[in-house]
Amino acid sequence: MAPRPAAKRINVYETMVLGAGMVGVSIAHHLAESGRSVVLVDRREPGRETSFGNAGLIQREAVQPHPFPRDFASMARVLPNRQIDIRYRMRAMLSNAEPLLDYWRNSAPDRLDRITDEYASLIVHCTSEHAHMMDVAGAQDLVRKDGWLDVFRSEDAFDEHKQLAADFARRFGVEYELLDRAALARVEPGLSEQVIGAVHWTNSWSVVDPGALVQAYAASFERLGGEIRQTEVTDIEQVSGNWRLITHDQTIEAENLVLATGPWSKRWLRALGYRMPLFFMRGYHMHYAPGGRGTLNHAFMDHEKGYLLSPKRAGLRLTTGAELNTLDATPRSSQLDAAEAEARTIFPLGERRDPQPWKGARPCMSDMKPVIGPAPQHDKLWFAFGHGHQGFTLGPITGRVVTQMMSQQTPSVDMRPFRADRF
Ligand SMILES: Cc1cc2nc3c(=O)[nH]c(=O)nc-3n(C[C@H](O)[C@H](O)[C@H](O)COP(=O)(O)OP(=O)(O)OC[C@H]3O[C@@H](n4cnc5c(N)ncnc54)[C@H](O)[C@@H]3O)c2cc1C
Repeated sequence: MAPRPAAKRINVYETMVLGAGMVGVSIAHHLAESGRSVVLVDRREPGRETSFGNAGLIQREAVQPHPFPRDFASMARVLPNRQIDIRYRMRAMLSNAEPLLDYWRNSAPDRLDRITDEYASLIVHCTSEHAHMMDVAGAQDLVRKDGWLDVFRSEDAFDEHKQLAADFARRFGVEYELLDRAALARVEPGLSEQVIGAVHWTNSWSVVDPGALVQAYAASFERLGGEIRQTEVTDIEQVSGNWRLITHDQTIEAENLVLATGPWSKRWLRALGYRMPLFFMRGYHMHYAPGGRGTLNHAFMDHEKGYLLSPKRAGLRLTTGAELNTLDATPRSSQLDAAEAEARTIFPLGERRDPQPWKGARPCMSDMKPVIGPAPQHDKLWFAFGHGHQGFTLGPITGRVVTQMMSQQTPSVDMRPFRADRF
């Protein structure tokens, strides 16, 4: 007689969160703080994917999402596919033609203005919500609260940004200082004279080890009574009103399920019967030893080139702009190599520290806003994904509002612009 397969263990909880990136961990943390029994499930340790390799900025200034270029000059600049801020792979463009076209339409000034108002309604809470979680987690040592710099090589670009900064300050309480060449030399003596000035975003924060912050929040969640399961989910089912996560050796069951799987959400949406315009803006990072005269005091974005350099525990972390590509396409080093070459012209970098570049994928929606709220076609299923360029920033406020909605409280932010049924 053939041996019977071992019976699978079934564990039942009140709420489970699938995905332990910054978004999922923050949701689990808030749910546990509200007194629920919560299990957080991920195939890896918390904060080892997209939330690990990003630039680690908590971006109070990021009130406006990143639009696609629409004027002829900018499009002509991007078309040869040799830029650092944005590159594309034709196959990915074709397979995502619909959401990309929609994103381009939403980049028109009138639409972008409305989207900015909505996006900013979440962003304005980012530092106070991180502060709360950092206090509970005892993670203050991972953050620097002295802002970061957008640096400029030409007067035209600097002037344009001065106007934008003034507008963001007036409308959304963004704080900044303008640094001319002399002031910048005092703040960042390592930057070359090619850089003529900077906007210093003074009420944004910078994290010295982004993965460690997610892990600190996850450890705090466990101290609050939450449970973490490290296992790969292969299927999701709804059985007799409860949700089940199926893995190779166990079934985890709960009344409520929160889907916080970042770029991998696309797979689950398809399996659950949803068609949503989610696509990927991939990015790379590499760490460097400090070069000759170079101590870097703040993260800076080389605005006209489109990469970011930030001081991290592991070294100087260089992160690239967007690569429009499929989630699992083979990594290519050319965008990072080009960013490194540009960075070396204005700041002294030492040797590379990582054996190979890290790659991650920003999960982006075609209207530039995350999806946060109840799933339209299923009871007790909640969505929290599509945070694009600012998921590290927006995790804690997402956790706050998801918990409020699940508890039938009025959320701190008007959540209508972020509902899943807008598509
Ligand atoms: C180069 C770069 C720089 C960036 N810089 C910044 C920045 O400075 N500031 C900022 O705010 N944002 C930044 N971002 C964006 C930010 O990193 C993302 O928006 C954010 O990390 C998304 O978080 P998440 O929790 O949604 O996804 P993730 O962190 O990817 O978490 C999703 C989790 O789901 C898990 N998962 C998926 N499928 C399964 C399965 N089947 N079974 C079990 N587990 C599963 C994964 O293992 C993963 O841990 C940057 C992104 C990149 C790429």
